Amino acid sequence: MNKSEQLFAQAQKTIPGGVNSPVRAFNGVGGSPCFIKRAEGAYVYDADDKAYIDYVGSWGPMILGHNHPAILDAVVKTAQNGLSFGAPTELEITMAEKVKELVPSMESLRMVSSGTEATMSAIRLARGYTGRDKILKFEGCYHGHADSLLVKAGSGALTMGVPNSPGIPADFAKHTLTVSYNNLDEVKEIFSKYADEIACIIVEPVAGNMNCIPPVEGFLEGLRAICDEYKSVLILDEVMTGFRVALGGAQAHYNITPDLTTLGKVIGGGMPVGAFGGKQEIMDFIAPVGPVYQAGTLSGNPIAMAAGLASLNELSQGDKHAQLSAATEKLAMGLKAAAERNGVSLNINYVGAMYGIFFTEEEQPITTYAQATACDTEKFKKFFHLMLDEGVYLAPSAFEAGFLSTAHTDDIIEKTLAAADKCFAQL
Ligand code: PMP
Repeated sequence: MNKSEQLFAQAQKTIPGGVNSPVRAFNGVGGSPCFIKRAEGAYVYDADDKAYIDYVGSWGPMILGHNHPAILDAVVKTAQNGLSFGAPTELEITMAEKVKELVPSMESLRMVSSGTEATMSAIRLARGYTGRDKILKFEGCYHGHADSLLVKAGSGALTMGVPNSPGIPADFAKHTLTVSYNNLDEVKEIFSKYADEIACIIVEPVAGNMNCIPPVEGFLEGLRAICDEYKSVLILDEVMTGFRVALGGAQAHYNITPDLTTLGKVIGGGMPVGAFGGKQEIMDFIAPVGPVYQAGTLSGNPIAMAAGLASLNELSQGDKHAQLSAATEKLAMGLKAAAERNGVSLNINYVGAMYGIFFTEEEQPITTYAQATACDTEKFKKFFHLMLDEGVYLAPSAFEAGFLSTAHTDDIIEKTLAAADKCFAQL
């Protein structure tokens, strides 16, 4: 037994499944999860000090690589002034202004402590603003674990086959309408049925919780037009795509202006942070200005703000996203070529600094949930473990996107590709 296996056995005695968030348990790939001791740049190190090139990046926040000196410095300096006050600070204003500068559709925004809180709050706000109960989401999209949103969800809920989670009253779930991602006809049909009952559409502008599925041309534009027609609120959930697909998020990349945006992960630089924001007129419905209640004792926590701000400041210097996109493309093309060399059928999607690999004979781009879930997950599991043995840490599920950071240099990508070549040969 190695140290991670020992720790996993111990953890299971006091923590459900040994983990504080399900996908970490490796249920999607089998075996014992790596317990991480430390991380630096593009690498994480497990409890036995084995190094892995990391394509999880704490599920997104580590876009500048682990343990970035500017972020660490900001955290340490800010911590010396006290950890939390439960009162407003100047840092919160600087942070809000920075986010607004990078994502101008967020005219007004509020900080929370997780992506789940951001989407839950945005949906409550959309409901309060429109006076409507129903929401529309897409099958395989994951927006956190709030009750309304765990209906036909992606990520761990998909990996573990519990898309409709027990514990959610049918009376809640009935307000969540679900249609197929990238299918505007289904959206139009459902709106024609529930015309003035749908408060909002919430969508991942690039789906990253059923592997990685970018929007087909016209999909996001179509959602914008439908929301305009029916006076429904368009929420782009950029918890994954924010500052990753482009500096201004997927909304900048695809040139779509949402009514509300939700953010998480990346804006905390590794600390627990989320945010929601958008049109002033809608945000004015939030307490204490408006009637829709939303709050958080640790919201806007100074350490989290300092980490997030340092991360965003660093990220907006130079054209980091050109570098990130080039690195992602090099990885994607290299994986495809390595798979081909070894007679393995592989399909790849990528956009900005996120990507997904699909073990499938399908040669057309993967654009639907049905295609994503029809892929060979057994082959993925095998590939995942072979890569892990070679020192490459991929997301431990066939239904999660992979993430790169600015620390993923050409040399590191080449090492990854050399490992992949060996692993494809053994599939
Ligand atoms: N929305 C999206 C698109 C996500 O990917 C996630 C988490 N993976 C969430 C919301 C929920 O964020 P959190 O886990 O921070 O609650």
